[in-house]
Amino acid sequence: MKKHSPLRNGYFAILGIVAIALASWYIWVFMKKKTFDLVQEDVHITESDYEPEVETADPRPQLTASPFHITTISVQKNSSIYTTFQKAGIDAAVIHEWIAACSDFYDLSSIAAGVQIELRATPDTEELREVFIEISPLLGILIQRQPHHTWLAEKMEKKPTTELVAVEGKIESTLWDSAAKAGLHSQEIYELTDIFSAQIDFEREIHSGDSWSVVIEKRSLEGKFYDWGKIQAARYTLKDVEHKAVLFIVNGKRTYFTPGGESLSGMFLKSPLKFSRITSTFQIKRFHPILKINRPHRGVDYAASTGTPIHAVAEGRIEYIGWQNGGGNIIRIRHNSTYETAYKHMSRFGSGLHKNSRVQQGEVIGYVGMTGLATAPHLHFEFYENGKYMDPLGIKFPRKEALAKDQLFAFQQQTKKLLALLQKSDIQS
Ligand SMILES: [Zn+2]
Repeated sequence: MKKHSPLRNGYFAILGIVAIALASWYIWVFMKKKTFDLVQEDVHITESDYEPEVETADPRPQLTASPFHITTISVQKNSSIYTTFQKAGIDAAVIHEWIAACSDFYDLSSIAAGVQIELRATPDTEELREVFIEISPLLGILIQRQPHHTWLAEKMEKKPTTELVAVEGKIESTLWDSAAKAGLHSQEIYELTDIFSAQIDFEREIHSGDSWSVVIEKRSLEGKFYDWGKIQAARYTLKDVEHKAVLFIVNGKRTYFTPGGESLSGMFLKSPLKFSRITSTFQIKRFHPILKINRPHRGVDYAASTGTPIHAVAEGRIEYIGWQNGGGNIIRIRHNSTYETAYKHMSRFGSGLHKNSRVQQGEVIGYVGMTGLATAPHLHFEFYENGKYMDPLGIKFPRKEALAKDQLFAFQQQTKKLLALLQKSDIQS
């Protein structure tokens, strides 16, 4: 047996310590990687048939034990990201490096006030290792320290899961109440009223007992409701008349059609105001409240508070914009060689509009007011056919185009599922 010298024993001891140190370092790194792997697994997102496959990661700070000491800061109002980092004691040179590292995919200087930023440092030496910026629940930016004092930034996007669901309700008082009760937000309620805006005057025609349903994309993040997507199909049953719409993309444009393939967007909206009430109808003889004489009322008055947006009922070209005695601030639009509409007593015009401006159907052209001869804020709306005054409420509005035969087959294939979902909700209502 060979006897080991003390020097040799010492050598083995050092080797042992180094081995143990290496092993524990490896275990620590491995465990750290493992925690991240687990975290990644936790947030695995399933994709719906409607969304393309994307890589997902959780951009939000993890609640699992972090190996870091975390300081959370946020950009204050009227402050910049630069000042925010500077206040947190970060070197100007380092801040510039971070901004440069992100510049390919995000402009850090555009970060809004209130965005949370985590500074992650090693607990013992307080050496900064990572910066995590939560731009939104769907987007985070992770900036990590690399060897040789460089920084690497990456975008961490989270994609919500999307499923198609049917949401429905019955009118008790207003559509607004009913839809809000069913969980829709104002944007989706406006969308629903827009879909049928050429068929239904939601301010005046709806009754308690009417019912509605929508097939809509419901987006969730980690199993929790995140937001609504676009309405894919809708039904509104007005008294006994059922109106149905399905979304279909034709020539790159998302348009709602009847199940038969007819476009729902009529040539004219039923009303230039979304929420208002009619205070005076089209009459050949009417006693004028200011002039105190009998005088025909050749339009419809919609009462609404000053500042309520006024929408062009159809696309067209502004023929007149300016002052008219009695009418106050008025706009007259020519829609085609046959039809014109006029809007009076506006408090102000839509921004950037002038004579000959093109306006789209539904575009805000001005705001309710009481300029000219008016006793209260209202919109006086006129409709002309071949230069003759017509009763806007009495006109049978011409329909817009229907799908061409070759598009109809694709339309029927694609909307089958939507209509089935919409049908399912019919049974329950
Ligand atoms: Zn009037």
